[in-house]
Amino acid sequence: MFMEEEFLGFVITGHVDHGKSTLIGRILYDTNSLQEGRIEEVRKTCEMLGRQMEFAYVIDHLREERENEMTIDTAQTFFRWGNRDYAIIDAPGHKEFMKNMITGASLADAAVLIIDVAEGMREQTQRHAYALGMLGLEQVIVVINKMDKVGHKKENFEKVKAEAAKFLLRLKIKPSHFIPIAALHGENVVKRSENMPWYDGPVLLEALKGFKPRKSLKMRPLRFPVQDVYDFEGKKIAVGRVESGVLAAGEMVALPSGKKIIVKGLEGFPKAPKNAEAGINSGFFEDIGLKRGDVVCAGKLPHSGKKLEGSVFWLGIEPLKKGEKILCRIATQEAEGTVEKISKRMNSSTLEIIENDATKLEGTEAAEVLLSFSKPLVSDLFGEIPTMGRFVLARHGIVEGGGIITKAVE
Ligand code: GDP
Repeated sequence: MFMEEEFLGFVITGHVDHGKSTLIGRILYDTNSLQEGRIEEVRKTCEMLGRQMEFAYVIDHLREERENEMTIDTAQTFFRWGNRDYAIIDAPGHKEFMKNMITGASLADAAVLIIDVAEGMREQTQRHAYALGMLGLEQVIVVINKMDKVGHKKENFEKVKAEAAKFLLRLKIKPSHFIPIAALHGENVVKRSENMPWYDGPVLLEALKGFKPRKSLKMRPLRFPVQDVYDFEGKKIAVGRVESGVLAAGEMVALPSGKKIIVKGLEGFPKAPKNAEAGINSGFFEDIGLKRGDVVCAGKLPHSGKKLEGSVFWLGIEPLKKGEKILCRIATQEAEGTVEKISKRMNSSTLEIIENDATKLEGTEAAEVLLSFSKPLVSDLFGEIPTMGRFVLARHGIVEGGGIITKAVE
């Protein structure tokens, strides 16, 4: 859909009511990304409700629409500015955001952390920041919102900026910019505000423009996790999504079995493509008995083993216990895992270490874990191939936690 070189996906995160929806609405409005009629529709609804037109409504409206459409990319809104396409990755609530981040439902290249200037950092802001730190996101902007509420005063901005910078530093996050904004009035979002002459940094969109676009995964080694194998007129066709590299005719290795496979060509309708790059769904005829969860690889091979260490974020209502058996998923692979060790149990809001060798992990806590599996799982490090370097933990089919792989153990 996009030229990869020109694409940047970013999350907007922050405590409830600090202005995420308003900011998204404002960005879309000021970049002329809202369809004709949409704004009018919202204006009418607001009139009916006897309320001033608010951008938060625009975005809530979009959300409803997306939910009704049941599209796969429910959490992304696209816009274009300058020569680049952007996706705003947005999750309506705190829990959805955390889930989105840890399961990798949508990968972010950058993050905008929004803080209400009158309220400062709040618990959810801190947890979100923790998740960003865990994922190693390096392109971060802090926007300090609702500057109109404090008379656009520099002192208020500086106070919240200092507080945020201090907290983020503990997570090794060094924001590229701290920007005073008023999302509701479009100040320093796309257009420069005249009410804050003391601020001489970039406005939000200029700051985003300065960020590096999404790294292409097509130059990495091939990873093709098999999603399904179908019978097709007596022959078998394996399908899935290319997670990295380029899938084309040739010799490959299926892991964890280590069997060689010669792919004669890709299948497709109406025309078979010559190759499929990272991010593309594809399929080919196979004769070695591939099944869901096998990972077809080429180039530098990934790790395949029964143990791994990871940073985990727990969201479950019931705690995760040491010794517990739990379903673990990496890409299309699934295996029963055992929680062998929980270390550095941490409050993800205060970053306080609760215990070094723990027997359980409560909801919203984070830790380092050692997991062992009933069968080998194929993985890469998160920093190399993100979708092969993340895992989720599920109980009774529901994702209750997840994290990134920090070390593969034999
Ligand atoms: P979310 O929960 O983070 O998505 O927050 P919303 O975007 O729904 O905003 C919460 C409230 O703050 C709404 O009533 C907004 O109109 C208001 N708000 C957002 N941005 C600003 C701003 O720049 N100035 C003022 N005064 N209010 C704002």
